Amino acid sequence: MRDIAAVSRPRLSGIAQPFHRGGFLPPVAARIEAFFVRYRHAIWLVHAGMFVVFLSLLFGPAVLKASSDNANAFGAFTAFANGAIWSVWFPLVFLSVIFTGRSWCGLLCPMGAASAWVNKIGPKLAIPAWVRWPGTPIISFLVVTVWAHTTGARDNAEAIAIVFGSIFIAAVALGFFFGRNKRAWCRHMCPIGLLLGVFSRIGVVQFCAKRPESGGDTWVEKTACPTMINLNRKTESRHCIECFRCVSPKSKAGLYLRLRSPGEEVAAIREHNGNLSEVLFLFTGTGASLGGFLWLVLDSYQALRTAIGDWVIDREWYWLGEPGPMWLMAVYPHEREVLRWFDFFLISGYMMSWMAIITAALVAATAGAAWLARRAGGDAPFGRGFIELGYQFLPVAMVSLLLGLGGDLFEALGSLGLGVDEVSLIKGILFVGAFLWGLRLGWGLLARQGVLASACWHRRAGFLYCPARSAVLSSPPRGIRPFSQSRRLR
Ligand code: SF4
Ligand code: SF4
Repeated sequence: MRDIAAVSRPRLSGIAQPFHRGGFLPPVAARIEAFFVRYRHAIWLVHAGMFVVFLSLLFGPAVLKASSDNANAFGAFTAFANGAIWSVWFPLVFLSVIFTGRSWCGLLCPMGAASAWVNKIGPKLAIPAWVRWPGTPIISFLVVTVWAHTTGARDNAEAIAIVFGSIFIAAVALGFFFGRNKRAWCRHMCPIGLLLGVFSRIGVVQFCAKRPESGGDTWVEKTACPTMINLNRKTESRHCIECFRCVSPKSKAGLYLRLRSPGEEVAAIREHNGNLSEVLFLFTGTGASLGGFLWLVLDSYQALRTAIGDWVIDREWYWLGEPGPMWLMAVYPHEREVLRWFDFFLISGYMMSWMAIITAALVAATAGAAWLARRAGGDAPFGRGFIELGYQFLPVAMVSLLLGLGGDLFEALGSLGLGVDEVSLIKGILFVGAFLWGLRLGWGLLARQGVLASACWHRRAGFLYCPARSAVLSSPPRGIRPFSQSRRLR
């Protein structure tokens, strides 16, 4: 087998020093690491099993529905598959990033595994610039979110098969053509990967270089990492799918697993490659998901639909009253659910409008905060301050997305015996908790910028995200001034 650790060994290495794992519960981290390294050769078996399970859940109900003899089996299996996808899979995978990072991607996801498998037999073309553009996964996420709503993927077996089947085909096609033994889809385009990657930044799992090099994260094709991370310069969690390929416990090079306190990376985002595209994703993704939730529950949406419908009829635009293709919108006459072109445009426009409103509000609030922070003595230029402070919304965005896209989880809680009030209370606690966590993150980010009041308050409260701080103080990246040497604190 190829010596993976050797790939990540620094070229100008001197005598290797033993690394200090640090972090939270280092013996536990070492054991988890040893377990996965020992069994990583068998991960393909898990992928193969998941491939069968996932395809059965996605396509089984649609296939059974096509067979009129299987009405009972269809009903039972459809309910099961729908519950498994929307009440179990989505919420659990989403929440798992806090406890296990992108373990879904590296250890379980059959889509990413299929993309990697076909890459072995494909032409291995260079990854085009439009794929590598940071905005590509954001557009991919927004399109899939709106598309899932217009096709009715929450409730219809055919729509689930169409939406997820198309994502599956796109993952395999991109993997087949582009990259050399890499996962171009997972790194650059997957909407689920974007979601999990950005939120994995507040998780407790981190892979760190034993012999870190300065210079910050870069995208590189000549690496053992399937998501093209420059291993010794890795500082961010977003693109790490936890495949354990770069980990070799006995080697003095390569990466190691470290457990940390939740939010540590975000509190020190300046040292972890925070960037504008992720902040914009937090804003736009939250807005689109909120729009997707609101058009289903607000009476005002129906009032708007009636008003615009009358306006359209007055102009005799009757083609807008025709149903469109099933791959684009829900057309199920036997279930009394038929969307027309008018509904398609209205739902898409409604969701995009909410996206624009929420994004504008969050951009204005963050820009105001960055401007004030600068006036209060913060050391970050306006642009960088904006990006850093944008990350304070991460917990609230996470809960908003969970409520907006994973609403079935809460309905399932209701069917487990919890009343409406209890479910609402859980939602409220989640939201308040996320809000308070966001406040704490914001305060910490301001302190890190050297905003005096925030920094003093943090120091008095002993509230300085100690692991992150000590990590940065012990080995500050080039060009970054340790917090204790900030001009505002001298
Ligand atoms: S990035 Fe997407 S396709 Fe790749 S492993 Fe993660 S969820 Fe699966
Ligand atoms: S950094 Fe290591 S564990 Fe993470 S994706 Fe790359 S090779 Fe896998």
